[in-house]
Amino acid sequence: MNERTAALMARDAGFRATFPVSGRRVLVVGGGTAALAQVASLRDGGARVTVVAAHSVPSIEDLAERGVVTWHTRAYDRGDVVGHDLVVPASGDPLLDARVAAEAADAGTWCTVPDSGSSPRSEGGEDVGNCPNRGRVVLVGGGPGDPGLITVAGLEAVRSADVVVTDRLAPLGVLDGLDAEVVDVGKIPRGRSTPQEEINRVLVTHAAAGKRVVRLKGGDPFVFGRGGEEVEACVAAGIPVDVVPGVTSAIAGPALAGIPVTHRGLSQGFTVVSGHVPPGDPRSTLDWDALARSGTNLVLLMAVATLPAITETLVAAGLDPATPAATIADATLPTQRSVRADVATIAARVAAEGIGAPAITVVGDVAARPV
Ligand code: SAH
Repeated sequence: MNERTAALMARDAGFRATFPVSGRRVLVVGGGTAALAQVASLRDGGARVTVVAAHSVPSIEDLAERGVVTWHTRAYDRGDVVGHDLVVPASGDPLLDARVAAEAADAGTWCTVPDSGSSPRSEGGEDVGNCPNRGRVVLVGGGPGDPGLITVAGLEAVRSADVVVTDRLAPLGVLDGLDAEVVDVGKIPRGRSTPQEEINRVLVTHAAAGKRVVRLKGGDPFVFGRGGEEVEACVAAGIPVDVVPGVTSAIAGPALAGIPVTHRGLSQGFTVVSGHVPPGDPRSTLDWDALARSGTNLVLLMAVATLPAITETLVAAGLDPATPAATIADATLPTQRSVRADVATIAARVAAEGIGAPAITVVGDVAARPV
């Protein structure tokens, strides 16, 4: 991904400089939503990020679980600044942030300071409270993760939001520098999560208080994104709601690994399915035998844990075991990885390579396309 930079500003002189972060060891102090925006932006820039914070929002925990950042689950300690190329105080506690900055200076380590140019948003919303009719919700599809893949309309909505309610797979880097209140409702697979009813309540409550609320989601809101439920909740509460579609990872993920989901002469279609529950599970509504015979490329989302069962079922239903297959993880992010095999062996390759969610598997002749 393109190299991003952290802005550095000398407090006294007001001098600004940029700092290439790719490959640099960066310490972020803090685990709240202010830190999240910085962590995501640094991660997008290819920095080696360490977070020190006793608590964190779900999306930072998720990045740590995926090995994308290192999280020390404890309070900041004096020696922490040592051994880093850059220190980012983002605890939200001005005293702690000042202490971190002072200790970085003592240690001769570069350190960012909060951008004094950004105006703090009014707390309590007195201004917005006087015009409650302004309250609305915009569901924004943020694309697969790289901030460059959110749409122009989506970015404009985010930038003019009072509140952004975000997911772990959204392009969290776009939150950097926002004045908006950020609410992280990321759901970690088999881990911490906010119930959908609670997410709906957060959207409706803020909008009813006159706030412009953006629900920032990964990919497209209506591709396994529960966007439909959120629209229904807003409509039921009488809240105006708009949708800005997004670039879905179902197409962008394969594309970034050089795989077109259709290709003239190879396939006349593709089928996107969820592998959240395996074939044969009472909750599954998919006809996997029919999918094996569909003649379309299959694009499997949420199908890392279930990949062995899914591929076995497809082959048992008659799909040629030599059918090409590819799995792409962390598409668009600096940690993007992909493996290619055939449908009979892709699950073993994915396991052997230690590939985890989020990942997409493509099954079909297009998966053998040269990059
Ligand atoms: N609404 C999203 C999909 C949400 S379901 C969209 O349109 O893209 C979550 C699943 O999407 C993940 O389990 C994974 O299969 C896929 N996914 C989302 N972002 C991804 C990424 N950057 N790389 C690989 N897979 C991704």
